[in-house]
Amino acid sequence: MADASQSQIDGSNLVALSLAHAGVQHMFGVVGIPVTAVATRAVAAGVRFIAFHNEQSAGYAATAYGYLTGRPGVFLTVSGPGCVHGLAGLSNAGANAWPAVMISGSCDQADAGRGDFQELDQIEAVKPFVKFSAKATHISQIPRLVYEVLSHAVAGRPGGCYLDLPSDVLHQTISDSEANKILSEAENPKIEEIRHEALDIDKAVSLLRTAERPLIVFGKGAAFARAEEPLKKLIETTGIPFLPTPMGKGILPDTHELAATAARSLAIGRCDVALVVGARLNWLLHFGEPPKWSKDVKFILVDISKDEIELRKPFLGMVGDAKNVLELINKEIKDQPFCLGRSHPWVEAISNKAKDNVAKMEAQLSKDVVPFNFLTPMRIIRDAILAEGSPAPILVSEGANTMDVGRAVLIQNEPRTRLDAGTWGTMGVGLGYCIAAAVASPGRLVVAVEGDSGFGFSAMEVETLVRYQLPVVVIVFNNGGVYGGDRRTPEEITGPYKDDPAPTSFVPDSQYHVLMQSFGGKGYKVETPEELKSALSESFSARKPAVINVIIDPYAGSESGRLQHKN
Ligand code: ADP
Repeated sequence: MADASQSQIDGSNLVALSLAHAGVQHMFGVVGIPVTAVATRAVAAGVRFIAFHNEQSAGYAATAYGYLTGRPGVFLTVSGPGCVHGLAGLSNAGANAWPAVMISGSCDQADAGRGDFQELDQIEAVKPFVKFSAKATHISQIPRLVYEVLSHAVAGRPGGCYLDLPSDVLHQTISDSEANKILSEAENPKIEEIRHEALDIDKAVSLLRTAERPLIVFGKGAAFARAEEPLKKLIETTGIPFLPTPMGKGILPDTHELAATAARSLAIGRCDVALVVGARLNWLLHFGEPPKWSKDVKFILVDISKDEIELRKPFLGMVGDAKNVLELINKEIKDQPFCLGRSHPWVEAISNKAKDNVAKMEAQLSKDVVPFNFLTPMRIIRDAILAEGSPAPILVSEGANTMDVGRAVLIQNEPRTRLDAGTWGTMGVGLGYCIAAAVASPGRLVVAVEGDSGFGFSAMEVETLVRYQLPVVVIVFNNGGVYGGDRRTPEEITGPYKDDPAPTSFVPDSQYHVLMQSFGGKGYKVETPEELKSALSESFSARKPAVINVIIDPYAGSESGRLQHKN
């Protein structure tokens, strides 16, 4: 019962105060019944709320925010369909092992089961995608549950968590003094997720020391762990070549002399010992199996997740935080240092192959091809990004050919500067990731390089960029559709709907830059190297929202990009 003699606060306000109390600085989301007051109260409590057009993009933003900051990205949705749209974000958090928390309103508890407005068993709906979920059935539970979801999201292997807030709980009230009491009692729960085991550091070092062709592979788990310093130390003291995964790029500079990126096939095909840090031996790393890897390669896996090590059954597994484990390895090596040196046959073979491949690629890149293929504009964008210096712009990339070509051409020299479709190959992440990056690193330039198809998933969020005046330049590679418009052979164009546009094509020559202009942002359409250079120079220095619509030859590139065999 509410105490009428004291001022009262309601559930929405208590959610907002709990988030602020727990240190949440930003929240992404879409307002509506029954959570609008949660958002407005959060702003009043000092939490910046970034209002999106669609929960899917807000969810993607929260996941990237979690990765970039190391703190859970929080996003808010309405009940029922809002929660369903938000599942995209939760699933992306799980697939990428990034910490995120979805908070959704839900229908009145008394009306559940009777066809209430937007009724859904949301706890059941989120189940496949979360590490932990909870429903507040009374206002007094709110602070504790806010702390619980936030803590579970980052504990052990990061992932998605969910908090369900029925509308009646949001409307319940308690006295200010009671609210202050439960808020001050709320604290991070102790979560035993990392099962520390004796780490076989000597064995790992001895394997690396005696290997003929060692390789160090690192991924976004190492980036999340902020392991750049010990990784650099390990690589530079031992002289072992390294290979980043797509989002591992930049933990050490792509331009480093020990980078094996441009000699990837040789490096993974011939290495005899591979130390893999914060990267799963999943499809992105060909499951660690032949024919891409040698059948005799000995894997040393470092991962925060014991399940991951048990799944892969490596020669040696080490469960722990990447930064800690690498520091221990460095400490062990310090007593008896070893270094392969530049003239070591393995190092030399990788270096020669990489130089050779880079030279071949540069020969292709140096040509100015008009109408644009993928390479010419990508080179121009690469050079413009590099000219920005440090701190390097954060790059967001999605698409088939656009992302594949971008991964090979664009250069990452700083950690956590590349966000792409990731483990799940998620298209539609672009604008959400851009917004997250701009919010997480105020003042830093964010550059998206997207296919027109990827852009279309969340294009309306360019209005969000303008509304919050975020320094984001979205470059759209416009080739008129998925993989480049209508690529059917004449024999395939048949049947009663043969005159419909191809399933892969969009309206040719779409004016994406005008969409941005309509909201008051800057829009450019470019078809030549000079036009592109000028648009990049102007938009990068303005640090204001812009869309650059780059018209690409629809016949450049290939279907499904690098994954053609899977389509
Ligand atoms: P990539 O896509 O770069 O190959 P993955 O997402 O496949 O990377 O793998 C990242 C791995 O990093 C996951 O298995 C996750 O459990 C692990 N990880 C997350 N945080 C840490 C950490 N702090 N230390 C070590 N490993 C971590």
